[in-house]
Amino acid sequence: MRDVLIVGAGPTGLALGIDLARRGVDALVVDKADELFPGSRGKGYPDSPLTEDTRTEPAGTVRAGDRAPDGETAAGKRLFDVLRGPHWTLLAVGTDAALPPLGVPEARIAGHSDQGAYGRGVFLIRPDGYVGWAGETAAGLTEYARRVGVTG
Ligand SMILES: Cc1cc2nc3c(=O)[nH]c(=O)nc-3n(C[C@H](O)[C@H](O)[C@H](O)COP(=O)(O)OP(=O)(O)OC[C@H]3O[C@@H](n4cnc5c(N)ncnc54)[C@H](O)[C@@H]3O)c2cc1C
Repeated sequence: MRDVLIVGAGPTGLALGIDLARRGVDALVVDKADELFPGSRGKGYPDSPLTEDTRTEPAGTVRAGDRAPDGETAAGKRLFDVLRGPHWTLLAVGTDAALPPLGVPEARIAGHSDQGAYGRGVFLIRPDGYVGWAGETAAGLTEYARRVGVTG
């Protein structure tokens, strides 16, 4: 016998199931579908209150709310490998701008080589791999991090 039955394994049901499990509540998630949805329903969070883009004229094509593209970091690693895991990541692309001490992993992409879709700027990548915050510098980033509860 379970304490809670959650009907529907979409984002809402799954998030509720995770939250209850973390609180020690015995919940079961069920879904009428036999298989997972075959496509993608998550292209991004444009204009969501979860994201913020402070740039007036973004140099690249990436916007806050978009999926974070790959790249090669100045340390010679694939950015996707740096982003992987349940943590936020602070990313500086083509800039030596000082980064605030958020207690999260940091990566830099050199200005001359692999800026790619990012353009020059500072980015905070969410644990789900989407760009949460984007700016020409890190001005305002600490306030955003506090508002959305960034943790390392
Ligand atoms: C093509 C597409 C692209 C999208 N792109 C984006 C995007 O880029 N960004 C964004 O934020 N949102 C996007 N969305 C919207 C996003 O997918 C929805 O907001 C989100 O899925 C809603 O989550 P939910 O859990 O409330 O409902 P759903 O995801 O609809 O989940 C409901 C679940 O309940 C199950 N269910 C229903 N009835 C029963 C029943 N009687 N018994 C058992 N199970 C049942 C269903 O099978 C389903 O799995 C997109 C949606 C689509 C279709």
